Amino acid sequence: MSDLDCGQDAVIIGGGFYGAAIAVYLAKQRGFKRVVLVEREGALMQRASYNNQARVHNGYHYPRSFTTAFRSRINLPRFVQDWPDVVRQDFTKLYAIARRNSKVTAKQFQRFCQEIGAELQPADPALRALFEPRLIEEVFLVQEYAFDTTKLAGWAEQELKESGVQIRYNTRVTEISKGTQAPLEVVTQAQNGVKELLSCRYVFNCTYSGLNQFKGDFSGVRSGLKQEITEMALMQMPDSLHGLGVTVMDGPFFSMMPFPARGLHTLSHVRYTPHLNWNDEQGIDPYEKLGQYERDSRVDRMVRDVGRYIPAVFEAKHIDSLFEVKTVLVKNEGDDGRPILFERHQDLPGCYSILGGKIDNIYDVLEKLDVEILSAGPFTNMQEK
Ligand SMILES: Cc1cc2nc3c(=O)[nH]c(=O)nc-3n(C[C@H](O)[C@H](O)[C@H](O)COP(=O)(O)OP(=O)(O)OC[C@H]3O[C@@H](n4cnc5c(N)ncnc54)[C@H](O)[C@@H]3O)c2cc1C
Repeated sequence: MSDLDCGQDAVIIGGGFYGAAIAVYLAKQRGFKRVVLVEREGALMQRASYNNQARVHNGYHYPRSFTTAFRSRINLPRFVQDWPDVVRQDFTKLYAIARRNSKVTAKQFQRFCQEIGAELQPADPALRALFEPRLIEEVFLVQEYAFDTTKLAGWAEQELKESGVQIRYNTRVTEISKGTQAPLEVVTQAQNGVKELLSCRYVFNCTYSGLNQFKGDFSGVRSGLKQEITEMALMQMPDSLHGLGVTVMDGPFFSMMPFPARGLHTLSHVRYTPHLNWNDEQGIDPYEKLGQYERDSRVDRMVRDVGRYIPAVFEAKHIDSLFEVKTVLVKNEGDDGRPILFERHQDLPGCYSILGGKIDNIYDVLEKLDVEILSAGPFTNMQEK
């Protein structure tokens, strides 16, 4: 039996919010000294952690998934407390209930909010007047916030630096395997083609859409994943909608949310935001698929439909569109729930795959990690005689 220097304590794959927050947690809370984070982009948080609707969920969005709604109620106050400079609270947030084709009535929505303890008030007449009353049954004023993705990335950069985490940008992990000198080995490939082998004790696969795209001994995650190419239009709203966020429930409707990182609003529509979807499998790289996608905007169709409910939207100006791959668990397709995926790979001891369905789920991940026995430092090779 001998102690081996196994290179790194941990390799984190993916510099989105999850990879960054987990790297910081390992360094600061668990005493890991040698942590390397590998990110295929040239900076942190360029993918889903930037290209999203920036909503700090507070439960309202999930009348069909009580667990997700309830967890959001618990996680929102913690998120606001931990990232006060990142969270924007200075806008009015409305949830409206459609009269037709809605899976929830205004009464049912009220009851659901009561059950999860989420505050809800009827909106005042000036706000109601923005909506077409023949299509909208009720409008509620709620408490829901937005986060600034650029500020969150700034936080991650600062914390990783302070924690001494090494970052390899423009570098992709291509293989994860069992090691000879250490429990695990990871092969990286930089943009210029240079390959590197990193030996380590633990691997945290935080690649969101790329979760299954590794060669070597990695056999993929057990949970089924669905990939979806999504478009969120970035709009400059007219004055009457400027300080507002609106979500219409619950069915083939839409949301508009402030997007603080650009000083604009995102507009998303249940029918037009998803452009293309497929069941995830090893070998179909979602990033490549998005790279090859033609990205024809559907903003005209979004605005045409949204304008029937909120006529002022016809005055909004389309500035840009955010295209991204959204990754969800197949099991939640029906209820829209967004639990975490947290898998310990039995065939690759020390390797974890993690996906947070939304930003505030980070607390659910950290709770799971808190009860994991993780040890940094030299690795005792029990097999050696
Ligand atoms: C359209 C859309 C709207 C959303 N709206 C909201 C919302 O309003 N509120 C909310 O809370 N959540 C929302 N989400 C979900 C939220 O964005 C995600 O839960 C969160 O960003 C996931 O963070 P992450 O770090 O796991 O993923 P990412 O930020 O995507 O990070 C993964 C990183 O891994 C890197 N990577 C991938 N493969 C490799 C590899 N082989 N080697 C090296 N690096 C690799 C990628 O470049 C990327 O930077 C939305 C998501 C989408 C797509």
